[in-house]
Amino acid sequence: MIVGILKEIKHQENRVAMTPAGVEILSANGHRVLVEKGAGMASGFEDQAYADAGADLIENPADIYAAAEMIMHVKEPQPSEYDLIREDQIVFTYFHFAAYEELTRAFMKTRGIALAYETIEDANGKLPLLTPMSEVAGRMAVQEAARYLERSHGGRGILLGGVTGVSPATVLVLGGGIVGTNAALMACGLGAKVDLLDTSLERLRYLSSIMPKNCTPLMSSPAMIREKICEADAVICAILVPGAKAPKLITKEMLGSMKPGSIIVDVAIDQGGCTETSRPTTHEDPVYEVDGILHYCVANMPGAVPMTSTMALTNATLPYVLAIANSGLLEAVREYPEMQKGLNIVRGHVTCKGVAEAFDLDY
Ligand code: NAD
Repeated sequence: MIVGILKEIKHQENRVAMTPAGVEILSANGHRVLVEKGAGMASGFEDQAYADAGADLIENPADIYAAAEMIMHVKEPQPSEYDLIREDQIVFTYFHFAAYEELTRAFMKTRGIALAYETIEDANGKLPLLTPMSEVAGRMAVQEAARYLERSHGGRGILLGGVTGVSPATVLVLGGGIVGTNAALMACGLGAKVDLLDTSLERLRYLSSIMPKNCTPLMSSPAMIREKICEADAVICAILVPGAKAPKLITKEMLGSMKPGSIIVDVAIDQGGCTETSRPTTHEDPVYEVDGILHYCVANMPGAVPMTSTMALTNATLPYVLAIANSGLLEAVREYPEMQKGLNIVRGHVTCKGVAEAFDLDY
């Protein structure tokens, strides 16, 4: 199969859909990989590394669209690409169609096959191509909290782990899923005292059995949040209610009970955020202050560490890419049934319920 790897053109997107290591595996399996020149530069992967891995470097993205049977991106195709997508061409990327009506209708017109990273879902409801980015965001949340707690960044001037004879910081993590567990593990590793809240008793049982001693998994409730938020130096919001906006668990009034100079890292900002006073920010200007409390609300946190994110993404996508390239899409879906849910639009027909419902389209 001919697989095309394109340079991301969406603003602030520094990841690339595949590392040279991934290209080497595809090439070794007899596939031709076309990589747009400069595609990996922002992630730290030079053109030469792709060439050494067996890729053909191509200057013009239109030539890749014209030749490849499968296109790989990180973000959804941009308007300049709509006319380049061909009938029956597989486009494998994060689409988030339900948020973009214009993209949905434009993709239907192409009669291509949209395989969306974000809706690939296994029998246990796990989302294997979203998990790596949640891991990155969770781990990064603690790094950012530590940075902005420094006095020079406007924070309380407190070290997460404390030192001999001095108490560590207290970190409150709301949501014990992928983001929350990764954040809690990082905070624990730095020596902080961590309270990890979730509403699922089953999840709390699991967390109690695996988390280090300086982490206390607790049942989440408005009362528990009110109690714990006063003690926290950093609050990390990591809640997901599938199919719904994030609940506003932290009210503006609660900020008054928090320690001045403490920080809220609202990772769930891409779902609207868990804090009444949260609004999306960017990597260029990530933090603002409300009532003496810092708010970090970057909606695409993994974009700050594109090298790690690209490697994590390739690790997760490669088995699917290889199966499609080796055996074709139908056979690959038989081998990996979770891919069925990843099919969002096939030859002009919407095949994902959520997308159809979002725009009242036939399904
Ligand atoms: P997840 O499904 O693995 O975990 C969510 C957890 O929240 C679940 O364990 C659930 O039981 C818990 N929860 C639900 N309601 C709760 C409540 N009221 N109180 C406490 N816990 C509650 O999801 P995830 O992958 O960890 O993602 C968490 C959030 O982070 C999502 O909103 C996701 O979109 C977001 N995210 C943001 C970025 C970014 O760059 N900002 C990156 C990745 C993920």
